[in-house]
Amino acid sequence: MTPITRNIGILGAGQLGRMLAMAGYPLGQKFGFYGFSKDEPSAMLGHMFTHDDEVDALEQLINWADVVTYESENTDPAVVDAIEAAGVPVLPGRDALYYSQHRGREKTLFRELGIPTAPFRVVDSEAALAQAVREIGLPAIAKTTTGGYDGKGQYRLKTAVEVPEAWRTLGGRELIVEGFVPFERELSMLAARGRDGQMVFWPLVENVHHEGILRLTRAPAEDVDPDTEQAAQGYLRRLMERLDYVGVLALELFDTADGLVANEMAPRVHNSGHWSIEGADTSQFENHVRALVGLPLGSTRPVSPWCAMINIIGETGPVEEALRLPGVHVHLYDKAERPGRKLGHINVVAGSRHELEARLQVLAPFLP
Ligand code: AMP
Repeated sequence: MTPITRNIGILGAGQLGRMLAMAGYPLGQKFGFYGFSKDEPSAMLGHMFTHDDEVDALEQLINWADVVTYESENTDPAVVDAIEAAGVPVLPGRDALYYSQHRGREKTLFRELGIPTAPFRVVDSEAALAQAVREIGLPAIAKTTTGGYDGKGQYRLKTAVEVPEAWRTLGGRELIVEGFVPFERELSMLAARGRDGQMVFWPLVENVHHEGILRLTRAPAEDVDPDTEQAAQGYLRRLMERLDYVGVLALELFDTADGLVANEMAPRVHNSGHWSIEGADTSQFENHVRALVGLPLGSTRPVSPWCAMINIIGETGPVEEALRLPGVHVHLYDKAERPGRKLGHINVVAGSRHELEARLQVLAPFLP
């Protein structure tokens, strides 16, 4: 048998890299982080290739790694190019970054693949913004085409009078304007594709945000009909095939009276998949690692129909209360408290709806 141990390089050293390493060590994999400082959540979980070293960190990473992945869609494409030029594959790949780094390119790809989106226009002047708002109608949402996250870089327009202010507030730069989608709830689906093209899909989950930050995921989402589940799987399948994708891909969706509408994708493991660590046969982190090194992907079956994930945001909160509950697992990322910062999450696996609600009740102090 050929050895399956690989040196896996991760661009970034945050909690996603940390959880990838924690999932990959049981499979005998080795991890190295191309991070920004030594006190990030992945510190000490593997080799640290940091900028503050005398030697060139990127060159060290390239010499060490068999395969490289990234934690963020905002990864510098020049870094990816340099690694690939040296003959080290970067997965999920350059294409996935190209599309997910620009909301206009991303939505155009969705449209090409027959994945429903809100009506949208890309604009680069105040006059074009005004025109787009007239064409799309109100309310509308203007977003910066690049660099936005957690609801930042976004302006909600209720009247046309707000156009100059929206243009100014968002910094007078290229924007995408989208029609407002009257959604009933927000869902997401995660999928993984292996090097051999094998694809697996976790179930649709329901996500509750507060001030742009994910606070609660219920997995699987309740009351999803099989057609909707199939539709979401089809969208992810088309995206992964088109992008020749390897690894975990997340797709955020609005659930509307007329079906699913795609909002955005993330070419990486995703916060709305953290429940899968204890809630599914194989977690998103393990399957991402398996995909990177060419191992068969594991079953994505939820271990119970009543799983949930609560994010720990800003302050750590009463984790000891949480730890007293059965079926509850606390994950802390070793990060300092700061308003709005993701410090950890709590996974809940329950045996019934009643049990899940009772546990969420006890965990209410963690929710806004
Ligand atoms: P985004 O930064 O694109 O993920 O958007 C952040 C949040 O804004 C989403 O989770 C939605 O709650 C909301 N949102 C974004 N785009 C739209 C839209 N076109 N219609 C309605 N709500 C939206």
